[in-house]
Amino acid sequence: MKLQNKTRLLIQLSIIVLVVIAVIRAADVEAFCPLGGLLSLGSRFVRGSSSCQMGETQMFLGVTLLIGVVIMGKLFCSHICPIGTVTEWLERAGRKLKIQVQRIPSFLDGALRSLKYLLLLPVLYFTVTSSELFCKTFDPYYAATTGFGLDVVFWYALPALVVTIAGSLFFRQFWCKYLCPLGALSNLFLFIIFTLGTLALYLILRIAGLDISVLWLFILWAVGGFLLELFYRKSPFTPLLKLKRDPLTCIDCKKCDKVCPYDIPVSQMDTVNHVDCTMCTDCIAVCPVKNCLTIHRKNWQRLPAIATVVLVALSLGFSSRYEISTFSERWGDPGSEVYLSSYETVVKSVKCFGTASGLMRKVEKQKGIYGMDAYARSHKVVLYYNADEIDESVIRKAIFSPYKSRVNKFTADFSGPLHVSYFGVSNLNDNVDNVNFVRALSQSPYVYGFESDFGEPVRVLIYYDPQHLKAEDIVNLIEVEKVEYKTADGKIEQAELNFEVEEGPEFRGEMPVSLFRQHIFSPFGRKFKEYQQADKANVRVFETGLPGLESSRIRRYLPYLMSHVSRQDGVLGLETFYTDRPLVWIYYDISQADSALISQALAAPKMVVSFSNGEVKEFDNPFKSDGISAVRTIEKLNSMKQNLQKGIAFLGIFSDETEQGE
Ligand code: SF4
Ligand code: SF4
Repeated sequence: MKLQNKTRLLIQLSIIVLVVIAVIRAADVEAFCPLGGLLSLGSRFVRGSSSCQMGETQMFLGVTLLIGVVIMGKLFCSHICPIGTVTEWLERAGRKLKIQVQRIPSFLDGALRSLKYLLLLPVLYFTVTSSELFCKTFDPYYAATTGFGLDVVFWYALPALVVTIAGSLFFRQFWCKYLCPLGALSNLFLFIIFTLGTLALYLILRIAGLDISVLWLFILWAVGGFLLELFYRKSPFTPLLKLKRDPLTCIDCKKCDKVCPYDIPVSQMDTVNHVDCTMCTDCIAVCPVKNCLTIHRKNWQRLPAIATVVLVALSLGFSSRYEISTFSERWGDPGSEVYLSSYETVVKSVKCFGTASGLMRKVEKQKGIYGMDAYARSHKVVLYYNADEIDESVIRKAIFSPYKSRVNKFTADFSGPLHVSYFGVSNLNDNVDNVNFVRALSQSPYVYGFESDFGEPVRVLIYYDPQHLKAEDIVNLIEVEKVEYKTADGKIEQAELNFEVEEGPEFRGEMPVSLFRQHIFSPFGRKFKEYQQADKANVRVFETGLPGLESSRIRRYLPYLMSHVSRQDGVLGLETFYTDRPLVWIYYDISQADSALISQALAAPKMVVSFSNGEVKEFDNPFKSDGISAVRTIEKLNSMKQNLQKGIAFLGIFSDETEQGE
């Protein structure tokens, strides 16, 4: 059948082009996901925190999608959803290839409709109670566009993808009718009286003091939505603007029935209020009788397409204007009489729910702070505190993270010692600033490292080669307004800086190169719970040198290395340390493992890594041993550690909580 609905096709094509561009440019393919936005909004209400990566754009799109469902039907499904578009096109391609579309018997059709509600239930519950987007684990769109990205569970997403593609070749809109959780949620808003009625009942019971889990509301929605769809299959009240057929002018050609992607018998209905109808308007476009099929009024057939564009534009407009907090937590008991003050600041490293909760874990340790709101887009953080207990400088200290980082590799002719000078620097507040500070110092190849600690201004020690650089020249490096840097994919970008040196430079002393290497190295590691239970007489430590540990690019794979070696039975923990060179220490129980097996695991070309969602993936192993290994007892190791710690007790060390530069 010839394509007649060009307006819809144009919108669908534009969306697919945008998705392809996003995939090619490795941009965020979920930047406009309304389901993610709605779930994130649900999570915001239920537990006070939005999901990572779901900002105002997705939330406003989700809200306007539901408004669209109530006013005009499932416009997102028919005009925007990339899965809906691709499955529709696949079905047409299949017909061209003479693949016969099958009709599903009505008893099976009814049973299959339960699947999307069964999927909606865990998607709703796990997302709103954990702020993690559970749907990413199996979403065929996300899996296909990210090449089974990090959040995808391969064995959930692969069957979903296969069923979506194969289903669309043999059955009409298989994913949309039977599997899509957003389709189930949209249908719940077509059964608006039921959905809002149960929501109101739940809220009334909660306000009345009954501690009912939100799970019961979701179960009610899933079961009720399915039963209404199974037995009723019509939406009497919504959408408010209805698709109608004029039986007086209808010539019963049945072209509308044939073109409908959902096999709705349009020619037998006066008001097309079937729950599957997505207001795609294909039936209107194909109808040979003018104004036989209409939406609300004559000649309004383009209204769904126009409404789709207007709703998307409105949500983009609102999202650029209003910001919804990503994170909102309260803790402790300041006392009912206490009026909390608020302190507002910008923490550039707060970019999502994860980084905001990381900051909360840090500031909640500070007595006198009782709550935090964070806004990912503007990086704004608002802290609530009792002004009788603490003042704002205590809050600034609680937010601050001490930091240390190498800056450049040593030049070939440099043998030390380094000079260490103190600077008081303003606007050096968070990890984004720290990264930019390294970029500023990197302008000279003779700066080798820096570390910072809280102060007003922030206290900074800089390690440099005094033969080629004067401390006064470092001031110019720090106060530069712009600095160019290379991104991971080789692009040159520019960072705008506003650091100011308010104190110093003050010369603090000299440091031998060996001590500097030791001091600037941040140990990493963890002993597993099996270590506590192990017979310590059986515990040994496999030691080998890993030169790559001095590179921040390689260090970030340490959690993967830990997961990889812990797959070996009897491994009890992993630590890194710097003695005369960077070392890894792997603790193991000699009754279950031996040093040869551990050495083999370390030398494997691929690391096998288990993730918390159950996924197991392989990565190239970037850690190469220097070939010098030893096996030690824990007594020997502890005495080595104590001696080393004494050795690095140098005047410049600020704090033992300092973060390592990345
Ligand atoms: S009834 Fe018409 S508007 Fe509704 S889905 Fe079928 S073709 Fe599209
Ligand atoms: S396409 Fe138009 S005229 Fe033909 S059956 Fe459908 S509503 Fe009637």
